[in-house]
Amino acid sequence: MSTYAYFRGEIVPLGEAKIGVMNHTFNYGTGVFEGVRGYWNEDEQQLYLFRLKEHYERMQRSCRILTMALPFDIPKLIEVTVELVRRNEHREDCYVRPLAYKDSELIGVRLHSLPDEFLIYTAPFGKYLPPGGGIRCCTSSWRRIDDNAIPGRAKVTGLYVNSALSKSEAMLDGYDEAIVLTHSGFVSEGSAENIFIVVDGKLITPPASENILVGVTRNTVIQLAKEEAGIETIERSIARTELYSADEVILTGSAAEVTPVGEIDRRPIGNGGVGPVATRLQELYSRVVRGQVDRYAEWCTPVYTKE
Ligand code: PMP
Repeated sequence: MSTYAYFRGEIVPLGEAKIGVMNHTFNYGTGVFEGVRGYWNEDEQQLYLFRLKEHYERMQRSCRILTMALPFDIPKLIEVTVELVRRNEHREDCYVRPLAYKDSELIGVRLHSLPDEFLIYTAPFGKYLPPGGGIRCCTSSWRRIDDNAIPGRAKVTGLYVNSALSKSEAMLDGYDEAIVLTHSGFVSEGSAENIFIVVDGKLITPPASENILVGVTRNTVIQLAKEEAGIETIERSIARTELYSADEVILTGSAAEVTPVGEIDRRPIGNGGVGPVATRLQELYSRVVRGQVDRYAEWCTPVYTKE
């Protein structure tokens, strides 16, 4: 159930949160957004918003790149978000979407001297990628957009045409997900996930300079791998063919969580199943996000006040 949205400075019925056809962001893709997951903990009867602070920190950075401003500082953004989710009475896993947009009906492409607005909506949300064994991926014929075209480190609405092109191509060709290369031909990321490979027991992931969105889940996985499993992550460029010969390939994202890849371009990865590193990280991640690991409790913002 999602009854309310945060819109133009107040919590209103979702049906009243409407933007006109002339809206600048609708026409030109001039917005920035975030995707945050809420995890329902049945035992505690509690909903946890995972790494809300880090998502808002990234949103602030995205805004700076687009010369936009958020209406509040981060503690207040968190407060407003928690209040909205509470009002929507989610008692299931859910998704929270904050979005900053240009609240203007001006015809003309630019960023400056246009009013900024901010909204949040929420929705129940299950799995994003098929669960179970490893998913099937292809290398996309589309290339990840360059930092000097649309900065990929900013989560810009218009940038997602690039993701949609690669995702639809992959799915219509019978795959679950696309892996997108940079213009130089190195591995960048999935259509909405960061990517890791496992070689000789170490994790390797492309650096920010490969036009990736620097994922909150990517950071979480790097930290959990190190602190809980003693696995180091190396950030370096990855060639396409390294994917084929890796022991494991793993996609990470707020929506995708920790998803093992079983096959890329019709080549089985490792033994084609779920490898030991992915299994370990999936197990850790699923407990951490539901607030079940005390050490990482500060990553989980509780929505409901306990009696
Ligand atoms: N890359 C892209 C293009 C994405 O859309 C996402 C999902 N937000 C990610 C990577 C993963 O980022 P995060 O772990 O912060 O969700």
